[in-house]
Amino acid sequence: MSGGGKLEFEVRPNPAPVAAAERDALLANPGFGRIFTDHMVTIRWAEGKGWYDARIEPYGPLTLDPATAVLHYAQEIFEGMKAYRTDDGGVALFRPEANAARFAASAQRMAMAPLPEQVFLDSLRALIEVDREWVPASDEASLYLRPFMYASEVFLGVKPASEYLYLVIASPVGAYFASGVTPVQVWVSDDYTRAGPGGTGAAKCGGNYAASLAAHAEAVSHGCDQVVFLDAVHRKYVDELGGMNVFFVYDDGTLVTPELTGTILPGVTRDSVITLARHHGRTVVERPVSFEQWRADAASGRLREVFACGTAAVLTPIGTVRSSDGEFRVADGGPGEVTMSLRSQLIDIQRGRAEDPFGWVQRVL
Ligand SMILES: *Cc1c(COP(=O)(O)O)cnc(C)c1O
Repeated sequence: MSGGGKLEFEVRPNPAPVAAAERDALLANPGFGRIFTDHMVTIRWAEGKGWYDARIEPYGPLTLDPATAVLHYAQEIFEGMKAYRTDDGGVALFRPEANAARFAASAQRMAMAPLPEQVFLDSLRALIEVDREWVPASDEASLYLRPFMYASEVFLGVKPASEYLYLVIASPVGAYFASGVTPVQVWVSDDYTRAGPGGTGAAKCGGNYAASLAAHAEAVSHGCDQVVFLDAVHRKYVDELGGMNVFFVYDDGTLVTPELTGTILPGVTRDSVITLARHHGRTVVERPVSFEQWRADAASGRLREVFACGTAAVLTPIGTVRSSDGEFRVADGGPGEVTMSLRSQLIDIQRGRAEDPFGWVQRVL
């Protein structure tokens, strides 16, 4: 069944789910990305057949032929989003249709079969329904959802695959900043770039992350938490971090963020920050920002705050900036007021604690 997109999910319950007491112990301190729920979604696609065999099945290992295409040519895409426990005990998603649309765009860029956006959304709901007890209730904890798709055809020829497997796995995660929001130190790489014009920078694909790891290791070796990538053509303008977009806050209250040129991943959080800030009367400008300007504006004091944003940490203040020419701080290096205010406004909407004027929150349960 390919068509416009309604698939029935066959539910195969896990015969040995994690016992309630053990699950509660895991949920008390889940960390990030190491604990998984009892079930996962799988849907298959084959050329000439379309999408078929939609299932909720026990979470477990996959068996891969060594010649499976993804292992060789990395035809793979993913998404990252969170399901939140609401104060009344329900479960909600934040802008899931934005992730569905981005997943479709990533599939197109990677020449993969497009999953109908409605099937993507239905798959999240179906998994949350069976694994609802895994959505943590504690403040700032959530159930991280990882939809992904890979080329499952067994073939070493280089071409778009004729078979794909789509999955969704879910992982309870704790508060990103367990002991209060702490600014990160960033390393501005002049050895490595992340994405060039015409490349895959705007697609959420595993290959972009593989390409960023050497730069990340370089950042860590300089005592930094994250890497900032400059544009690949001029090696001058700020693109983004390895997995987060970046914003600059000026002394007149204006927000500036690099424009989406095709090399930057269009973050859902980025878009939400722009919308929310404008809603509150702030000016938000999307334009190129050079590293030189960043340094000069930090020195003159015009630049008051810099933050990174993405699903995992929502908003993260950037305190210290290091590069091969030395280091500087933005203002006093602490979390800025605008950053912290936007951060809590966004979290309050996500949690159903604040009014949602944009219709971003979707109740699942
Ligand atoms: C996922 C991702 C982001 C953040 O996107 P969100 O939708 O806000 O989570 C930013 N940059 C890169 C490279 C990413 O992969």
